[in-house]
Amino acid sequence: MMLSEMRSRGLTVKSVQEFNRRVILRLIYEKKLCSRTEIVESSSLDASTVTRVVQQLVDDGFVEESILQKGENQRGRRSIGLRIAADPHRVLVVRLQRLNFQVAMLDLRGSILKSAEVQIKPISTAENIFEQIVESLNSFLDLCKENLLGIGVTLPGPFLEDSERIALITETTDWRQFDLIQRLRVHYQQIPVYSKHDAKAAALAVWISQGLDSNSKVTLYLSAGQGIGSGLVLSGEVFRGSLGTAGEIGHTSIDLNGPLCKCGNRGCLEIYSSSLALLRNLEVNWQEISSRSISFEEVVVAYHEQQPVVVKEVEIVAKYLAQGLINCINLINPDLIVIGDEYARFGERFLNIIKSHLQTSTLPSVFKNINFQLAPQTDLVINGSFHHVIQSELL
Ligand SMILES: [Zn+2]
Repeated sequence: MMLSEMRSRGLTVKSVQEFNRRVILRLIYEKKLCSRTEIVESSSLDASTVTRVVQQLVDDGFVEESILQKGENQRGRRSIGLRIAADPHRVLVVRLQRLNFQVAMLDLRGSILKSAEVQIKPISTAENIFEQIVESLNSFLDLCKENLLGIGVTLPGPFLEDSERIALITETTDWRQFDLIQRLRVHYQQIPVYSKHDAKAAALAVWISQGLDSNSKVTLYLSAGQGIGSGLVLSGEVFRGSLGTAGEIGHTSIDLNGPLCKCGNRGCLEIYSSSLALLRNLEVNWQEISSRSISFEEVVVAYHEQQPVVVKEVEIVAKYLAQGLINCINLINPDLIVIGDEYARFGERFLNIIKSHLQTSTLPSVFKNINFQLAPQTDLVINGSFHHVIQSELL
């Protein structure tokens, strides 16, 4: 680009360099492994610019060279490829849930290097939990402060992503008056802090890992665990809605005469089908076996061992979730549905029960068009938040 052309477009030499750097970094991030030649072809930048910018990215520790094996490049020979460098940069992610929060440290290729889970006491206030999060983050910062790209925070919903405020989290302390993200920014002034609704973070991770390859036009990620939520990916973009609360399937009703939910609606799906509701329903029967409370871990084991009481309750939950999904399928016509979070651990049998309910209650052509999957046993929420930080800071 000529200098005069740059100036007429309001660009400086520095901003063009920054633009080129981001274009090249994005290509390497999306392709995961590629050659300098591929970057020249895909970016329309000239070879000397690509060589110079790549060298700067290598020197800054964001990119590293790696051998491209035969078949991985166009000429079928071994050559030098480029990929995102795992070291030295780091991303921290905080995942807030109802019963606990998790802090994880990841390298730039998304591997979790260290993580910690902290239980939340039922009597904790938002201020107490904030102090615990800061304490936990500080211990991680001691390990990576010099090379930290940013902190990603994920929250249950309904979360107003635009204003970064919690609208409601059922079954936990009242977060509405507490501006968690702003408090973290004030506390960590030198570190970029990013927020994301947990199911939307997971939907982003699903899209990056599966949606891109499956060519899905409409992906629905169902987050089923301590809360019930969803994330929608429409043509490659996570759909946020007007205020950022789209996808709150947990607050769609499956019973007009059901109990009143804190959102104002009656019979919300989440009231019947969250893992907290499931544990409550199982508690009575469990007390005949053990004096202490049943854990979700024990429910998963009991379900796989086919203990009749557990199977019955889990399958009732599957029916409720299917009802919520039927409403959603009719509204958005998805072609990929991924069941994730805690309930993914119930496995294929659980998924098949949901599918059998859907099959009898949706149009055959609509049902046949849907590819169903269980989410992988990795923390997609952490992974999605990691990608959100990378995309916001680097690309
Ligand atoms: Zn509700």
